[in-house]
Amino acid sequence: MTNTPVPRILVAGAGPAGFAAALAAARLGVRVVLVEPHPVLGGMGTAALVNNFCNAYNDWTRFIIGGIFAEVRAALIRRGALYETRCMEPYEPVAYDRLLGDLLDGAGVERLHGRRITAAAADGAGLRVTLDDGMVLAVDGAVDASGDATVCRLAGVPARLGRDGDGAVMPLTMCYRIAGIDLDAAKAGWPNSVDGRNGEQRPVYIDPNTGERNFFHSGHSPFIDPMIVADRSAGLLAIPRDHIAVIQGVPGCPGEATVNYGRVFLKDPTDPAQLAAATAEAEAQVHDGIAFFRRRLPGFADIRLVGMARQIGIRQSWQIEGLHRLTADECLALTQFPDAIAQCCYMIDIHEPGSDKTTCKVLPKGTHFDIPWRSLVPARGPERLVAAGRCISSDAGAMASFRVQPSAMAIGEAAGVGVALAALRGIGVRDLPAAAVQDRLRATGGILE
Ligand SMILES: Cc1cc2nc3c(=O)[nH]c(=O)nc-3n(C[C@H](O)[C@H](O)[C@H](O)COP(=O)(O)OP(=O)(O)OC[C@H]3O[C@@H](n4cnc5c(N)ncnc54)[C@H](O)[C@@H]3O)c2cc1C
Repeated sequence: MTNTPVPRILVAGAGPAGFAAALAAARLGVRVVLVEPHPVLGGMGTAALVNNFCNAYNDWTRFIIGGIFAEVRAALIRRGALYETRCMEPYEPVAYDRLLGDLLDGAGVERLHGRRITAAAADGAGLRVTLDDGMVLAVDGAVDASGDATVCRLAGVPARLGRDGDGAVMPLTMCYRIAGIDLDAAKAGWPNSVDGRNGEQRPVYIDPNTGERNFFHSGHSPFIDPMIVADRSAGLLAIPRDHIAVIQGVPGCPGEATVNYGRVFLKDPTDPAQLAAATAEAEAQVHDGIAFFRRRLPGFADIRLVGMARQIGIRQSWQIEGLHRLTADECLALTQFPDAIAQCCYMIDIHEPGSDKTTCKVLPKGTHFDIPWRSLVPARGPERLVAAGRCISSDAGAMASFRVQPSAMAIGEAAGVGVALAALRGIGVRDLPAAAVQDRLRATGGILE
């Protein structure tokens, strides 16, 4: 009797997409090796301190993203580490990293932290990749969840940077964590500034599960925006942004919050020199923002900086050219695809390159669009390689919607399933019927309709 070797799958990047890809593949019985430069899991969701899940409900009651995302979200609620707002849901990033580690370790995923992939080429039906410490891995298939389509580009898959026309990418932001918000002073001095998106009462939020009280503000505000205009005109504030994206309380830590406010422009986030210059500028904006908050916001007079993110937050980078290029028009037309592997209901949220403005196109309440399997599959290149998360095939407008973490995680789960199934069947991903991926997703809690 001969033993058929168990296929080995590589996942590049441990953001929401890579984490879910690794877990989904491992649960299908293949061996999985996950490569991640940061010591933490979660990608932008931890390393860039974007500790928030945007919109897994399309009408604040109907969940449109299930599977691994729903499992993670429920576990965070059980651990008291997620505020259940049913819209933008803040979570505690350290607890989130630990949870992702528990799940991956429990499924037997081999994790290689502190390293990145620097070379990749087709090797038979699989790939041969090289890490920056010289390690070489021969694998039977791979998921590129690097956010930059790095593995795909190294392996010869065509890719594009930024929006059509000028290749511009959305600005970058250094997020940070503050402590010392006086919640009573905030409640007394800050009007309930409803931002029009979800009608939540602001700014002091009470979590229905834990009863914990904390601060939450997001979006344009008739209270804050005029202060920003005044302070920018007076030369007191230099951040090129007309509103604060979010100040969100950290679950389990009343009076602490993470902040998404800065805005830095560059041409290519994969260029180390540009990224270093952007990071320096973004760090200066952190102090600028804190000074503004102390000066202007009720309850913020005594806040202190707890820490900045490990890396500047990157919204947009290289994306593959796949079998289908998802467009903003398709998203706004609420397109349902026969090969749907995930759903998304988040608005098209474009932080405009070179501008202090943000363009939002909201989907009607209770609706969603589909993400097709073909957008994960490269048009050309190695037989068993797919992209996942924000680097799949789309135009800039579509990406400005599905880039959010719940969708990225759902796309990653499908990518892990697809590559694992292709490897187990001994075929390429372009020959794998999308129905096989859909069947597995539905059988494991995925929501596709
Ligand atoms: C400032 C900011 C605010 C945001 N706000 C929200 C929000 O409120 N809610 C929300 O849901 N989403 C938000 N997002 C979007 C969301 O965080 C990302 O789009 C999402 O994390 C994308 O997931 P991903 O797994 O595709 O990529 P990422 O999270 O970027 O993960 C990619 C991973 O790949 C790793 N990597 C990179 N290169 C290599 C390599 N060569 N080899 C191996 N690994 C590599 C990286 O270290 C990283 O861990 C925000 C994003 C930013 C930047």
